[in-house]
Amino acid sequence: MPASMQGEMQPTIYRFKLGGFEVATIMDSKVVRSGLTPSFGGDKQADEVKALARANRIDTERYEHPFTPVVVNTGKELVLFDTGNGWLREEHEQLKGRLPAGHLVERMASAGYKPEDVDVVVLTHGHPDHIGGLTKGGQPVFPNARYVIGAAEFDFWHKGENVREARKFNRELYVKIVVPLANRATFIKPGDEVVPGIRAVDAFGHSPGLLDFTIESEGKRMINWADTCNHYVIAVQRPDIHLDVDDDKEKAVATRMRVLDMVDKENLLVAGYHMPFPGIGYVEKGKDGVYRWVPHGYQMNL
Ligand SMILES: [Zn+2]
Repeated sequence: MPASMQGEMQPTIYRFKLGGFEVATIMDSKVVRSGLTPSFGGDKQADEVKALARANRIDTERYEHPFTPVVVNTGKELVLFDTGNGWLREEHEQLKGRLPAGHLVERMASAGYKPEDVDVVVLTHGHPDHIGGLTKGGQPVFPNARYVIGAAEFDFWHKGENVREARKFNRELYVKIVVPLANRATFIKPGDEVVPGIRAVDAFGHSPGLLDFTIESEGKRMINWADTCNHYVIAVQRPDIHLDVDDDKEKAVATRMRVLDMVDKENLLVAGYHMPFPGIGYVEKGKDGVYRWVPHGYQMNL
């Protein structure tokens, strides 16, 4: 008898040391979406985006979109950045076909973290795939956690002024899920420290108050750029290309340029929420001036 086919198998947890910290990237879920275009570049730049995909040996019609929260154990506190899709598709009819079920809690468990171990939940921004795992049936999933939330981001969703049509339901979700947690939250601005070694960086654009975070221990330094770049080829090689889910498109472009420049110049390791798993890598600037995503090799394993 020939051996039977076992199906695809992919890793969902990766952990490494950063100085005295432990950093784990944990894939909550992923979807395969159709069409890099028109999401990237609209109809106008469809040919350019497809050419870029072909040049990078990736499919022009479909792309994998992972959702990867980051867990940092500083030795004093367990810090979780973003919470995945959680139970959104079960609890909201509108999201059924659009978001995958979240698996963060069970995958954290297999990495040795219980929900009650989480001391701090940091929200990089308020989009559904980042806040979805905060509550289940209205109850906080991480019962002992305090929350750290960008003040500008919170104000935007809380006030609900100038919310574009495509984000109206997102605003409803935010009010339902995040606003009730405000009494356990600290509101921060770019430059502020979350816990010793973790500091917020201005990344406004993709969402009104998106924050990136530098993570530093014993001279080792990295950045969690969350959704600053949403695709490892298109957004990194062509940060100028507009993306439909960027709330302020021009500001998102300026942020990508600034963060890519910083990552390249400071030779930072990057964790990116939507980068191919394990979602960590570097950025290299070619002689042609083009930035490229360089997936992590074994640098952090030594
Ligand atoms: Zn996202």
